[in-house]
Amino acid sequence: MEHTISITPQAERKVTDTKSVPFGKIPTEHMFVAEYRNGEWQNARVSPFHDLTLSPLSLCLHYGQTVFEGMKAFTMADGRISIFRIEKHYERFTKSLFRLCMPHVPNKLFINAIKQLVKLDSDWVPREDDGSLYIRPFMIATEARVGIKESDEYLFMVVCSPAFQYYTKPLKVRVETDYVRAADGGTGNAKCGGNYGGALYPTHLAKEAGYDQVLWTNCIHHEFIEESGTMNAMFVIDGTLITPELSGTILDGVTRNSLLTLAREKRIKTEERRISYHELIKAFESGNKVEAFGAGTAAVVAPIEIIAIGHKEYKCYTEPDALMYQLQKELHDIRKGLLPDTHNWNEIVE
Ligand SMILES: *Cc1c(COP(=O)(O)O)cnc(C)c1O
Repeated sequence: MEHTISITPQAERKVTDTKSVPFGKIPTEHMFVAEYRNGEWQNARVSPFHDLTLSPLSLCLHYGQTVFEGMKAFTMADGRISIFRIEKHYERFTKSLFRLCMPHVPNKLFINAIKQLVKLDSDWVPREDDGSLYIRPFMIATEARVGIKESDEYLFMVVCSPAFQYYTKPLKVRVETDYVRAADGGTGNAKCGGNYGGALYPTHLAKEAGYDQVLWTNCIHHEFIEESGTMNAMFVIDGTLITPELSGTILDGVTRNSLLTLAREKRIKTEERRISYHELIKAFESGNKVEAFGAGTAAVVAPIEIIAIGHKEYKCYTEPDALMYQLQKELHDIRKGLLPDTHNWNEIVE
């Protein structure tokens, strides 16, 4: 079924300067909403950004039936606007929804909703080199009923916010060996709200101890590296790009996938496999350069300068010639239209 999307623009348009504002604080002028009721999506619309009215009984407020995505739009060198790998984000959204028993969103509805919204708010897509428009599609369970069940009603929404450089300096992280982000059979590979609520406390403790983030480990012996905060963890050891394999506890990051693809094309050796903190200690103690970074849409590449393992801190390689910066630059140049987009990653917003 085709879904028509009605469009109601804001009466008066005004772009706010958001460069000095923390990430995600200022929405653009419009948003997308569709309602799921009686087994179908209805009333799809792009309208001025507004607050929601929800029953306090809404299921999402109690039982965490929520899923989200995060992607970016860029102003390319020639002035056109592109959205990075929207289809790949759609695929992941679909999988997350399935895991949370939430209704499927048809491909056309998802793509058109985002394109229409970005088109209407195109003045909000930064032109600066380090700027982009962060796009946040999400779904919440809205049936009013305080009793755990699969909701019969949902809202699918998209909001946007201009984004600039996410972290201004390299991160200090601590290998987390008490708490876990995800366990086998859990929801670690779904982008669902609950994963993040549960991560706040261990992150809070790490911050109190002087670190920016935790490096999560697996749930059994807390030995194998999983993710870096809310990013995929990547390492360069002896010139090989190593990242934990996609077990069910790791999110299948689009940035991770893109960087692996670019590295392989440059004939850089890549390995998707388990990597333990013992292996990291060995690499550090061998005196070789070890690069470590987080990979994710918001920060793209977030260099890590310190990894604390137990009571010891290890220093990673963060000099300008590090491989992570080369990969980051290449990805940036593809998104900005400065290098050929040989993978058709850029979805042009007409
Ligand atoms: C979103 C996210 C990532 C990064 O995925 P991208 O598609 O690259 O943005 C990695 N880990 C977690 C836990 C995430 O939520």
